[in-house]
Amino acid sequence: MDLKTLIRDIPDFPKPGILFRDITTLLKDAEGLRYTVDAFAEKCAPLAPDFIVGIESRGFIFGTPLAYKMGIGFVPVRKAGKLPAAVHSVEYELEYGTDKLEIHQDALLPPGSNVLIVDDLIATGGTAAAAGKLVEHSGSKVAGYAFLVELKDLDGRRHLPDVPIVTLVEY
Ligand code: AMP
Repeated sequence: MDLKTLIRDIPDFPKPGILFRDITTLLKDAEGLRYTVDAFAEKCAPLAPDFIVGIESRGFIFGTPLAYKMGIGFVPVRKAGKLPAAVHSVEYELEYGTDKLEIHQDALLPPGSNVLIVDDLIATGGTAAAAGKLVEHSGSKVAGYAFLVELKDLDGRRHLPDVPIVTLVEY
């Protein structure tokens, strides 16, 4: 299936010069949604993860059904101040300023678990790299990453550890 036909391009969102890859049009397509989750599951199976970590918020949308399908648990990485129990935090660079991501300290147990990190899209790679640091701070291992969309020109991969990266659509 050509998933690109289900992803909508919105120019100048959220600000001028950004071409936003809108996946809501894929999500509402029953076949597209099923195909996406099934393709992730097939390609990620060799990584043998113990947990899926999904990055707020669109990483939750794909990460949770993927965890269900793979028969493993799902752990959210959230923006600062959203998780109620004790957290690990990591600050990362944005185009202007910094942002913070958090994970529950007791989410990835036992230590040494294999973790697959999921998001809808990799652009500069800063968000995914920060999620990887949270996994490492938790004492677990990043087994790999899975993104529906990769923006190749930005070469976000260079910020990620040397682990397998699964992508389904490239621009
Ligand atoms: P980055 O940290 O630059 O790799 O940005 C990744 C995060 O920003 C992901 O959670 C994406 O959902 C979002 N994002 C960045 N660029 C785009 C884009 N062109 N279209 C849609 N989402 C984007």
